[in-house]
Amino acid sequence: MAINVQLFIDGKWCNAKSGKTLDLINPATEEVIGKIAHAEQADLDLALQAAAKGLNIWSNTPAFERYLLMKKAANILRERVDDIAIKMTNEQGKPLAQAKGETLAGAEVIDWFAEEGRRIYGQIVPARELGVLQLQVKEPVGIVAAFTPWNFPINQIVRKLSAAIAAGCSIIIKAPEETPVSPAELIRAFIDAGIPASVINLVYGIPSEISNYLIPHPLISKISFTGSTSVGKLLAGLAGQHMKLATMELGGHAPVIVCEDADVGYAAKEMVICKYLNAGQVCVSPTRFLIHTNIYDEFIANFLKEARKVTVGNGTDKSIVMGPLANERRIPVLERLIQDALAKGARLLLGGKRIDRQGYFFEPTVLADVPITADIMSEEPFGPIALLNSFEKIDDAIAEANRLPYGLAAYAYTKSLAKATLLGQKIKAGMVTINHDGLALPEIHFGGIKDSGYGSEGGCEAINSYLQTKLVTQKAY
Ligand code: NAD
Repeated sequence: MAINVQLFIDGKWCNAKSGKTLDLINPATEEVIGKIAHAEQADLDLALQAAAKGLNIWSNTPAFERYLLMKKAANILRERVDDIAIKMTNEQGKPLAQAKGETLAGAEVIDWFAEEGRRIYGQIVPARELGVLQLQVKEPVGIVAAFTPWNFPINQIVRKLSAAIAAGCSIIIKAPEETPVSPAELIRAFIDAGIPASVINLVYGIPSEISNYLIPHPLISKISFTGSTSVGKLLAGLAGQHMKLATMELGGHAPVIVCEDADVGYAAKEMVICKYLNAGQVCVSPTRFLIHTNIYDEFIANFLKEARKVTVGNGTDKSIVMGPLANERRIPVLERLIQDALAKGARLLLGGKRIDRQGYFFEPTVLADVPITADIMSEEPFGPIALLNSFEKIDDAIAEANRLPYGLAAYAYTKSLAKATLLGQKIKAGMVTINHDGLALPEIHFGGIKDSGYGSEGGCEAINSYLQTKLVTQKAY
């Protein structure tokens, strides 16, 4: 049966007022598998009115009740994991095991923020005279507009949604048109848990039309965007013009420094898993490998051995490691970047092209000795491509790691405590993970610096960007 993804506005699943839809395509088969309602201004106006009603209800709901409902939503998500995962694989392409992992991780994120919502503390500031109470209290910022991409259909939403509603905000989510089904299932889990109608609203449409309408709208207080740096800068500019709070989770080009004393086999094995996860369509994907010259050949041999095990196919086939790219438009971009690197002298060690079959499949690719002038050394590939280069002095590796305007994630491998400490201190990135892939747990910071954005979507700071401080100073007389 063809899928029909509707909008969710004011507690009701509905078609767009105009009746317009977009096609939903399975990237592994290129078949149209359903349609998605396409919101326009009339639908957005309804969502805004609903969110205003929702804010009134939800911000007046005790934090403990919000916590109970969110915990229930997390458990519903867990119960439905098998059904949701297959839907995600069919729309996004990732292997079923990764889709299940993402859904279960989503439940953990909901749990984390539900609990954080119970710890929204204010302050009492000592007063200068008796009888005066100076209370600094935290209030929800208001209605949030969230814009999320297609690479992690649930994860990208659940961090924004959970933080927002744990804080007492209502929200309008502009979910990804390419992968709308699993986000709708996420919202369904919250609704079935009993979150009041109108607190959460879900729309799809033309991204720029929706952001251009919602961001300046007086009812919106805060925006949160995950996507490319170029779009992020546009939206942050619009938010700035209209004095809206903003969280920006943008692109990256993660360096991986492998020191001479690293366990080469372990580092190569772990980094291959991490590189080809979700076909490299991950903002923290390891990309620029900087390997000490004395272990360069050994690392390359180990990396290739592991990368050759990355079988590619339909994510519903349990034996495969990597699915298709989520969108056809990425293929010419990857081909251009590879051709440019080869023309400038890089060596192609593995893959390098689209796989000749139905679906948006691309070979796991390894390039070595990639000149710094190659576009791919500066432009985020957002695909299954690893760039291997050597270094002699650790200071040179650090300089290369810090060369780009991006500053999202960085990886390093070394057995030396001194080098680990140096790298942790000197690499300019929002997240540095050393000797393991330790990123993206709900309880730790997730966010970038420089052109990779600002704000945090994990850990104890994340809820703060959905809260504002109010001073109430009162005198008894
Ligand atoms: P894109 O820049 O066209 O879109 C990226 C995301 O932003 C999409 O979800 C899109 O719907 C949304 N978007 C685009 N214009 C928008 C607007 N005016 N208002 C609101 N939302 C808007 O790129 P793409 O082809 O979808 O993806 C490729 C690039 O996007 C990658 O190179 C990568 O840098 C970036 N990206 C990053 C993440 C991430 O997790 N940080 C996720 C997906 C894509």
